[in-house]
Amino acid sequence: MKPVESRFTPEQVMQWLHEVPDPEIPVISVVDLGIVRDVRFEDARCIVTITPTYSGCPAMREIEQDIRSVLGGRGLNEVHVERVLSPAWTTDWMSEKGREALRRYGIAPPMERAVDLSGILRRADPPVPCPQCGSTHTRLISRFGSTACKALYRCQGCGEPFDYFKAH
Ligand SMILES: [Zn+2]
Repeated sequence: MKPVESRFTPEQVMQWLHEVPDPEIPVISVVDLGIVRDVRFEDARCIVTITPTYSGCPAMREIEQDIRSVLGGRGLNEVHVERVLSPAWTTDWMSEKGREALRRYGIAPPMERAVDLSGILRRADPPVPCPQCGSTHTRLISRFGSTACKALYRCQGCGEPFDYFKAH
């Protein structure tokens, strides 16, 4: 029998990690969210490096458990999840596929810092398009939406409110 490390590649593991959803936004995987930074093997042990989206994110424990359970299901039992806080996660790491999934889910994906983390609207920035109808006639209603990382907008085209995932 081959030693375990030659049976798996980091690329394969990264593929499998697409099955691990973000607990807060289940339509997006932790890979497309951009929090999985690296996969490597040290002998038979698989080390997955993740960077939390926001400091003190309570979902991290859940994500670590999900990673272990998905990889365990593939026969990878020695998994170590390593948290790296620096460099800090940024919405730039979100994949195009992840942004599209957010839009379909009804959340406007992050763009060039229309609202920064402190919640200050920067007027020079382009408007956030409505994920429902695509209208750019949208208005910021609340700097904090369903969670602190989102802002609440209303579309003046279709009248619907929507969350905007703040760039950061
Ligand atoms: Zn709309």
